[in-house]
Amino acid sequence: LQQSKPLLDASIGNGKDNPVKKPDKYADWSPDPAQMALKPDVSGNEINGLGEHDFRRPDFVYWADGPGITAHWDMQKWFYGANTKPLMTQARVERAKLDDLDIAAKAPNRAAGDASHFTALAKSKAREVGAALVGITTFNKDWLYRGKECNLPRVIVMGIAQDYETMLQAPDDPAAAEVVKQYGTCQSTAKLLANWIHQQGYNALTHFGPMSGLYTMVPAAIAAGLGELGKHGSVINRTLGSNFRLTSVLTDMPLDGDESDIFGADAFCENCQICVNICPPKAIGAEKQWVRGVEKYYVNFDKCLPFFNETAGCGMCMVACPWSRPGVGDNLLNKMARRRRVDA
Ligand code: SF4
Ligand code: SF4
Repeated sequence: LQQSKPLLDASIGNGKDNPVKKPDKYADWSPDPAQMALKPDVSGNEINGLGEHDFRRPDFVYWADGPGITAHWDMQKWFYGANTKPLMTQARVERAKLDDLDIAAKAPNRAAGDASHFTALAKSKAREVGAALVGITTFNKDWLYRGKECNLPRVIVMGIAQDYETMLQAPDDPAAAEVVKQYGTCQSTAKLLANWIHQQGYNALTHFGPMSGLYTMVPAAIAAGLGELGKHGSVINRTLGSNFRLTSVLTDMPLDGDESDIFGADAFCENCQICVNICPPKAIGAEKQWVRGVEKYYVNFDKCLPFFNETAGCGMCMVACPWSRPGVGDNLLNKMARRRRVDA
């Protein structure tokens, strides 16, 4: 097969066909000086290892659960003060109630069953308690933030769907509230699944955003078959696109791992610039870059963060991605298959 032409010209979801537009009010956007005065001396890109050709574990860069953990804590505090939109504030109140959701103690005896038995039950349970996507993989310690440790051998990674019509209003309040709400679902889903694993007599450790300081979930999601890394720095799933949030449970329950799902999103990104063009602070790189020993798409942290903070979480790139439009994934896959046949 010779790839002589782009797999697609990314016309689906682009231009007038794409319901996500960059609002005019952000055409000449520049960061609020009050926020920029809180910028730390160190670049977030340096913390993330941009330009490093050798592998190292990642460093936790944002969404700390208190001061003294990340360099950008003062900017995170500014986010809380600046974003008091009513729907988002109400969603935060609702989400906080989930902090009280307890996980039962582990049962003293392990339930009988082999890996295929527990895999079917765990995936069914994950969907029952809120997951739209679920995959399993061996836990790779390379994903742990430096200084963190975890000896559980497997991870169940789940995708929590966001309402597309609501997310179309990103970065405004209804979308910001939807993100907070679905982060709540991330918490409840992980806790309810961990509860079930404990009932079977196995260890379980929940890990979900946004305060996710143990390990970086994107590579785990890719390894677990949830999708591929997009140019916008999020996972692209073949059915949900990027319109979902990640949550996970680490465990020693015997489970079968999934294969990664390389369906063509990376190849599609090569010829698509939708997220690059829609991002107001121009944070999304058009080309892959070296990050801690891996050449991959990367979002400039220092450019994204001020806009992200000012708009209560932005999310425009995730919803503008053509794969995120409901029902479009199959259409894109069919077109890519036809183009491959023509080029073969
Ligand atoms: S989330 Fe960040 S990278 Fe994505 S569009 Fe908004 S500012 Fe740009
Ligand atoms: S991640 Fe960006 S470049 Fe890739 S398909 Fe989505 S919008 Fe296009």
